[in-house]
Amino acid sequence: MLAYRHAFHAGNHADVLKHLVLTRVLRYMGEKDKPYTLIDTHAGAGGYSVEGRYAQKNAEYAGGIARIYDSPALPEPLADYVGLVRAFNPDGQLRQYPGSPAIANFVLRENDRLRAYELHPTDHRILASYLESRPNTQVSDRDGFAAIKAELPSPTRRAALLMDPPYEIKTDYAKVLTALREALERAPDTVAMVWYPQLQLLESTQLAGRLKASADAAAKKGWLHVRLTVAQADERGFGMMGSGMFVANPPYTLHDELAECLPLLVERLGQYDGANYVLEQKAV
Ligand code: SAM
Repeated sequence: MLAYRHAFHAGNHADVLKHLVLTRVLRYMGEKDKPYTLIDTHAGAGGYSVEGRYAQKNAEYAGGIARIYDSPALPEPLADYVGLVRAFNPDGQLRQYPGSPAIANFVLRENDRLRAYELHPTDHRILASYLESRPNTQVSDRDGFAAIKAELPSPTRRAALLMDPPYEIKTDYAKVLTALREALERAPDTVAMVWYPQLQLLESTQLAGRLKASADAAAKKGWLHVRLTVAQADERGFGMMGSGMFVANPPYTLHDELAECLPLLVERLGQYDGANYVLEQKAV
């Protein structure tokens, strides 16, 4: 049973952080002439209406993309990401939010390969139809964690990996860790991105440390970890406080690009005085 639908959350603070990092990684990879492969293990539907019934339920985008969408003079990396969201909204009004495959569709070049995995039948159908005419693209309805064995090492040699599971089932925490280890064993220079929710839950608080240990053991070019905390958990300890992105083999430019954007994201997306960020890296 797949209960999770990303349409409820599209454009929230977590999507802003995730898609800012994704955009920077893809831009960097596109600087070299040689094509690369992006493997999106949990791709979602591709794009979402923020005016639709799902997104309007909790209006999460109002605490995310809507807070920076019309801002002039954003730091360049953030302006580039917001520009992609604007390109998804031809009349200028924020009506649609691009998911990771749509961002990839904007940024990847024709000869770059896209491999998108999505298990939910409805979202898979929407995604497959959205990407139908994109060259060098395959959309699969199989388990995204199986993509590691199927796709790595990739024929392009250069590969980026985005793992963005729902974490509604606790086993997703162990699965991303195993998948990162496998990915780095199979192709140690894969630029591997893992998104995770910041919750008052042991699995969540331990994940970044475990990902770092795996990257320490196998990544060729170190790692970067960024976390953006925007809210407090409720009195029972429930609720998402923020989210993190872990990147193995990050572009060397990523740390400084994020450092430029994070103070503004804390200021705009923070929902309480203690909103903050963590940005750390281990360069090899
Ligand atoms: N990456 C998307 C983005 O940034 O726009 C959002 C993805 S959403 C957080 C997670 C997606 O994973 C959901 O659409 C869900 O249906 C799908 N999913 C859940 N388990 C999966 C699995 N084992 N393999 C592939 N997709 C899965």
